[in-house]
Amino acid sequence: MQEKGSISIHTENIFPIIKKFLYSDHEIFLRELVSNGVDACQKLEKLTQLGENQSEQGELAVTVKLDKEAKTITVSDNGIGMTAEEIKKYINQIAFSGATEFVEKYKDKGDPKQIIGHFGLGFYSAFMVADKVEIITKSFKEGTEPARWICTGSTEFEITDAQKESRGTDIILHVNEDSLEFLEPYRLRSILEKYGKFLPIPVFFDGNEETEDKDGNKSKKGPEQINETKPLWTKPASELKDEDYLAFYKELYPFGPDPLFWIHLNVDYPFNLTGILYFPKLQNDFELHKNKIQLYSRQVFITDEVKDIVPEFLQLLHGVIDSPDIPLNVSRSFLQADSNVKKINSHITKKVADKLQELYKNDRSAYEGKWDDIGLFVKYGMMTDDKFYDRVKGVALVKNLDKKFFTLEEYAEHVKGNQTDKNEQQVWLYATDAQKQHSFTEAAKRKGYDVILFDSPIDNHFIGTLEQKLEKTSLKRVDADTADKLIEKDEALESVLSKEEEEKVKTLFEGAINDKSRTVTVAAQSPDEMPVTLTMPEFMRRMKDMQGMQGMMMGQMPDMYTVTVNANHPLTGRILKAEGEEQQQKLAQQAYDLALLGQGLLQGQSLTDFIHRSAGMLGVE
Ligand code: ADP
Repeated sequence: MQEKGSISIHTENIFPIIKKFLYSDHEIFLRELVSNGVDACQKLEKLTQLGENQSEQGELAVTVKLDKEAKTITVSDNGIGMTAEEIKKYINQIAFSGATEFVEKYKDKGDPKQIIGHFGLGFYSAFMVADKVEIITKSFKEGTEPARWICTGSTEFEITDAQKESRGTDIILHVNEDSLEFLEPYRLRSILEKYGKFLPIPVFFDGNEETEDKDGNKSKKGPEQINETKPLWTKPASELKDEDYLAFYKELYPFGPDPLFWIHLNVDYPFNLTGILYFPKLQNDFELHKNKIQLYSRQVFITDEVKDIVPEFLQLLHGVIDSPDIPLNVSRSFLQADSNVKKINSHITKKVADKLQELYKNDRSAYEGKWDDIGLFVKYGMMTDDKFYDRVKGVALVKNLDKKFFTLEEYAEHVKGNQTDKNEQQVWLYATDAQKQHSFTEAAKRKGYDVILFDSPIDNHFIGTLEQKLEKTSLKRVDADTADKLIEKDEALESVLSKEEEEKVKTLFEGAINDKSRTVTVAAQSPDEMPVTLTMPEFMRRMKDMQGMQGMMMGQMPDMYTVTVNANHPLTGRILKAEGEEQQQKLAQQAYDLALLGQGLLQGQSLTDFIHRSAGMLGVE
């Protein structure tokens, strides 16, 4: 038999266009051809099950064989194969119709990458790397003859009889001059491993390489299997143990520490999705590795860019998602509009929230133990996704300085009363650095206030979310005000000083401060509070934090500190009673410098002066 023909399309030559535009990644050809081989094997399996295959099924496999000298790559399978008629139908017509439609529609239009992938151009991607492609195939059907199809990258093809004993298909690519890189065994093997590591039918690589044993004897390396046909996510969760999940994680990320926990996804309605998502243990906040989730479609690796499929805050997760319902190779805008993608997105969000609830309910103390690590995800999610906020608000925790954990509701209950101000607002106090803000946290504790530790960079933003979501609640850092003003109450302490004395104190301290942006107030506080306190109002500090975070020039905004002198502290009385203006000024300076020192703000010349003055006061001139 010999038949020549012309592929019936109205475009002179689609191949240059395919070559140029089909996929920006030429290496995809291997994924497409190997997947076709796997499909052919799975179809045969199915037919055997249905009793429609009379041939001996045997061990099904796909083999990729390299012949560097002949410049060919051969992808072989022992699946269903094709008859000459089927080649005409499937390869000439069906596969071509997709390619033709694509070219017809878009050859004159803008960016073809935008629309690529709407069409199953699988087989023809071979022409991205080959000048000539041959198919030699023998159908599983009894009494059919093997056939050979050959096409040299024009619209002409040829079908002839062929010699082939065994069932299945060989696709032979005669690699073009621009694609010689694919003839390197190492390169080809790594592409195969990338896309085919978890394919469901055994895949072998035969690089035709020579190896040498220790006596110098050369021999050919035989074909090696590169895949695991039943990866963990395809198995039922009920059959799996923790060790299995941990081992699979190690396989995916050999260098990472063990994950905190994982979620096994398994949905079949209204879309199909399986996978395992791991919560990694973060080394530190800044090491937020994205692109750690691998996307598969029926066990074929597609991409590790899951931007539009997984909500942003969950892109910090690791693991595998497998769904035949995610459109492949399509433009971003298309993905975003796709309704399956949207459903998948919200499903994953829900599953993650469910898992958090489950962990919380099953073992609260274990959950608390993990909070420092998972808190980051949860807070980020609550900030960026309202639905997620609502789902997890019951299990989001805050930790106070005594390292005790509370849910938001528990915390509101805990501070109710004492931390409610005169306007019925609850004020939640927090510290971002327990060491640096020590004198303030101590002062707050003396008032019976509780202080939350918010020491991760994300907390600066999370505070804003909490204020938006929680009713009648505001948050203040402990050093935003003196302890008695942090939470405004109606009760006011009496000052032991007269108005004139207060004025005098104010003037003395203004003399001690050589910074115009700092204002002095004299206030009646308890005598065991600090004599002098420097505070920066909450809103001002947040603005500065934001500036810092956006990388704006530091120092644009001056540090607007308020200097509060405690009228009732014995030291203030002492300053007033000192003999002579000069002595009074000196003591005011000393008291002010002590306050600066307490907050790590005393530096340079002022610090040196302070040391000399202190030495003098100790009588060591
Ligand atoms: P798709 O795989 O998306 O259908 P392709 O262009 O890759 O598109 O293939 C077109 C058709 O050719 C397939 O649907 C299948 O019927 C047939 N085909 C391709 N490769 C093989 C193969 N190795 N064995 C049997 N049939 C194949």
